[in-house]
Amino acid sequence: ATFESQGNGSNPPFTDKNAYDWSSEEEEPDGRAQPVQVLVVKDDHSFELDEAALSRILLAEEVRDREVVAVSVAGAFRKGKSFLMDFMLRYMYSQGSDDWLGDPDDPLVGFSWRGGSERETTGIQIWSEVFLVDKPDGRKVAVLLMDTQGTFDSQSTLRDSATVFALSTMISSMQVYNISQNVQEDDLQHLQLFTEYGRLAMEETFLKPFQSLIFLVRDWSFPYEFPYGQEGGMKFLEKRLKISENQHEELQNVRKHIHSCFTNISCFLMPHPGLKVATNPHFDGRLKEIDRDFISNLRILVPWLLSPQNLDLKEINGNNITCRGLLEYFKAYIKIYQGEELPHPKSMLQATAEANNLAAVAAAKDLYNKKMEEICGGDRPFLAPNELQARHGEVREEALQLFRSVKKMGGEEFSRRYLQQLEAEVDELFVQYIKHNDSKNIFHAARTPATLFVVIFV
Ligand code: GDP
Ligand code: MG
Repeated sequence: ATFESQGNGSNPPFTDKNAYDWSSEEEEPDGRAQPVQVLVVKDDHSFELDEAALSRILLAEEVRDREVVAVSVAGAFRKGKSFLMDFMLRYMYSQGSDDWLGDPDDPLVGFSWRGGSERETTGIQIWSEVFLVDKPDGRKVAVLLMDTQGTFDSQSTLRDSATVFALSTMISSMQVYNISQNVQEDDLQHLQLFTEYGRLAMEETFLKPFQSLIFLVRDWSFPYEFPYGQEGGMKFLEKRLKISENQHEELQNVRKHIHSCFTNISCFLMPHPGLKVATNPHFDGRLKEIDRDFISNLRILVPWLLSPQNLDLKEINGNNITCRGLLEYFKAYIKIYQGEELPHPKSMLQATAEANNLAAVAAAKDLYNKKMEEICGGDRPFLAPNELQARHGEVREEALQLFRSVKKMGGEEFSRRYLQQLEAEVDELFVQYIKHNDSKNIFHAARTPATLFVVIFV
């Protein structure tokens, strides 16, 4: 298996990291590869896809008809994503050679990292160069590296970030979820939120929503409990994702949900890179100044993710997707989020799912009422009880059908409760309609002498 970089020859086309411009409009003046902001969330919460830039990357002649592997590293700002991705770039550019980590004195360049002055943009960046890799089975595939970032610290940014993460989860075949220190309940809830956003958009068309999810825990500080690396990570994750009966329902749901969304789930525990990396403002990324433990795990992590046999091809509904195809999906997915009002996440998913289901109940009840009013409301003529029963049956089914057809968050089981609530409420309404209908029955009314008088003399 070999690696080869497309377009720019075999030398890593890096310049000093400060030279990178983050503007998506920027052309590549000297043909050097660089990160390109393809998706931005703007201040008014609208999304902007730089279709021209994305097309330039995905429709490059060498790659457009190749099946694609899309690797995304996703997470909050300033958690070492770019730092890691620059090592991933080194691996890709060195074509998998044994000394891919490079010279101990070379500064680290590629995706801009650290740079306190750079704007923290919620969105997706893609490395402008797509790599061609020979898989062991002889297929030459295209590898795309994506950096997905956002914040989860305020309500206004939560929805934007969830949508961006949902998009990158839909687009990527390998989603590396980069988190700090531990897998907290928060991290799982955020993950559930953005996979829900993604699933909502996909559930009609696609069987298996997402592919590989890799929890990457940075600064892991309990190696004596669970050792660094993938095996320790798996054991740790198993424990963290275990569903137990005495868990709160909400916690159980998060876990079930994550399991139901991804084909492969794994975890890697990374050690802290050392104080120079974390705190020294003059640190430029050279290996010499990074803790040895970190480097030796980096040596395992990066090939574990990116070696030719470990690259997962992007599949949608069981089909492998080419770069050209991926561009189309990208455009279509963006439209889904632009065109559709999604519920605003309140106190995370539970509230969202609740509101979403309740809205569907309300819409269905509304439909039932409207139709029944036409049939037997107000001063519509009296209907024979068996006729009324039959019409009710039809309209009831129509209302339930409407409820079922509305896209809902929270999953099937959660939604069933609301369906039952709807059924009960509709049946209650029906009792009112029966009473109202009965009141129009002159033979029924005729039993009281006063109305008998009225009836005879009208
Ligand atoms: P990003 O915003 O997630 O892309 O984060 P960056 O890659 O720009 O890194 C932010 C800061 O964290 C930089 O100062 C890095 O030197 C530092 N850093 C990189 N990797 C790690 C890590 O694994 N642990 C810690 N504690 N800091 C890191
Ligand atoms: Mg970054």
